[in-house]
Amino acid sequence: MSDTRSSSSADNVNERLVSILLDTNNSEEYLRTVLEYVPVLVSAVDLEGNVKFASQHHTLLAGVSDDLNDIQKEADLYPALVQSRVENMAMEAALNQPAEAWELSAKHKDGSMHHYHMHRLYVKRDTDTIIYSIGTDVTEFKLAERALRDHKSRIDYMAFHDPLTGLANRSLFYDRANKSLSRANRSHSTIALLLIDLDRFKLINDSFGHDFGDAFLKKAAQHLLDELRDTDTVARLGGDEFVVILENIRDVEDVEKIAGKILKSLAEPMTIQGHDISCSGSIGISMYPNHGKGIDQLLKNADAAMYNAKNAGKNCYQFFVHAMTDNAVNYLLLENDLRRAIECNEMKLFYQPQVDLNTGRIVGLEALVRWQHKDRGLVSPVHFIPLAEETGLINQLGEWVLSHACERFQAWLMQGIHFGKVAVNISMRQFRQDHFEQTVVRVLTESKLAPQYLELEITESSAMENASVTAEMLGCLSKMGLSLAIDDFGTGYSSLAYLQQFPIHKLKIDRSFVSDIDTNNSDASIAKSIIDLAHNMQLQVIAEGVERPAQSRWLIDRGCDQVQGFYYCKPLAEEELLALVEDHTRVIKDAAGVRFIL
Ligand code: C2E
Ligand code: CA
Ligand code: CA
Repeated sequence: MSDTRSSSSADNVNERLVSILLDTNNSEEYLRTVLEYVPVLVSAVDLEGNVKFASQHHTLLAGVSDDLNDIQKEADLYPALVQSRVENMAMEAALNQPAEAWELSAKHKDGSMHHYHMHRLYVKRDTDTIIYSIGTDVTEFKLAERALRDHKSRIDYMAFHDPLTGLANRSLFYDRANKSLSRANRSHSTIALLLIDLDRFKLINDSFGHDFGDAFLKKAAQHLLDELRDTDTVARLGGDEFVVILENIRDVEDVEKIAGKILKSLAEPMTIQGHDISCSGSIGISMYPNHGKGIDQLLKNADAAMYNAKNAGKNCYQFFVHAMTDNAVNYLLLENDLRRAIECNEMKLFYQPQVDLNTGRIVGLEALVRWQHKDRGLVSPVHFIPLAEETGLINQLGEWVLSHACERFQAWLMQGIHFGKVAVNISMRQFRQDHFEQTVVRVLTESKLAPQYLELEITESSAMENASVTAEMLGCLSKMGLSLAIDDFGTGYSSLAYLQQFPIHKLKIDRSFVSDIDTNNSDASIAKSIIDLAHNMQLQVIAEGVERPAQSRWLIDRGCDQVQGFYYCKPLAEEELLALVEDHTRVIKDAAGVRFIL
């Protein structure tokens, strides 16, 4: 029921009363008798506000005397009302006005709240002007109206939300996503779309039943909400598939950070019906405007990336790269672009110092590749390493990185510049190559670098995939005298039994645990366990991604051996690194009383 409907019903009642009042044939006696019995507020006052008449109904209003004879002034009829409205209007003008109308809410003596639809009417009789006020009780209309509005908003809610999780549904997602795109267009900003699929949901649903599965989805939705800001859109597209929109992205790393947090949160055990169950997720990420002009395209590309994340071993995120779509032309162009870049020396190595927390000295450099693209500038490896892995170009690229890093390091040693060791990232596909160890031998021979100066980094997830093959290869490499580090430690599922068999030297605590190490208890306890685990196994431990003094302090206090991160030094181009060396007085950073020197 709408406002118009309730007020027009009230209008009808009021109009009938108006005609009675205006009919001079009716005696005042008649009027009084009629109004005694009608549940309507009617009053007549003169221009000074003296009450000539008030209907019995007024005595129901809180604050109004039960004996109408006590009432002198209009103000006493409506203790909280309208005097000012009449005063503000010049009377002459008012006389020519049609009746004023407004709504009045007043409490009754029994405590109930009533709403009246009021009319004010100016009637000239002989020399006097009488102001009639007529009010019809529209409380029931109002209540019905509100109930209807509530009902309607419940229906709206149901039409746009997933009944199980309460998250936005597909329709609301499209609506919000389109609005996000318009905002991004206006502000020339970037949006990230994260498509999240739970890794083992089907298994959980099949083993524990649908009720359990539903409860699980609810919890997973809550975990997602907990990791995001209120302004981010989170929707359930169906089944175990969720989508998140992040606006105003300034840096790919911001997206990585959030994706990392979501993965961590989903992988945490959830207690359902007394069982502790965990189920990781895989995330595909597409970015607007780079990966699509509309929502459908962005979703499609995020889906391709998500599929890749599943293929890469699940519990990880992948950014969309054009090679993932089935557009063969695009694929070839990009692959060619990357192939050409590797051949034409468009790749460039940066070096990030690793600092020993006991001595404050640089004990190593991690070599990190960048693509010096003619149009796009310096491209981060997160954008092309997945493509290189997918196309197999990683073997060629990886070999270039390895030999370039070894040659550089040897050249520096010859010049008397000593950085400890050089660490090189080895991708899973490279590591699984037939006779990878022979490539390493060849590179070391050609560069004349002694093996003790080289460290190879292999991610935890690639090391654990087919762990017995890994153990064999690591054994082979270790015998050559080089060092081995397990990268991104903590993000995969390490089997301790295997870890003990691997002839490794170092664990690298993944950045995602370090970012909130000083504020988040669960991150802190994981990091502490990794430090203890490493020390129990006589391994060194390094924390990556240290950006703040508080993180550094925390790590020093817990006995971590080494650190790497922007707080100490960003990855530097060769020239920048040498400039650092030449400035002998340079202190890289002064963290909580510990000085770091070259
Ligand atoms: P990664 O091996 O975990 O390398 C560390 C990454 O963290 C680097 O990103 C580095 O720039 C970044 N980083 C260092 N300190 C901080 C910090 O304090 N805060 C934050 N937020 N980030 C920090 P980058 O250079 O973009 O490399 C990204 C990933 O690309 C590497 O992760 C590695 O997986 C891969 N990658 C880089 N170079 C190579 C390579 O030559 N071969 C292979 N296979 N992969 C590589
Ligand atoms: Ca690394
Ligand atoms: Ca790492």
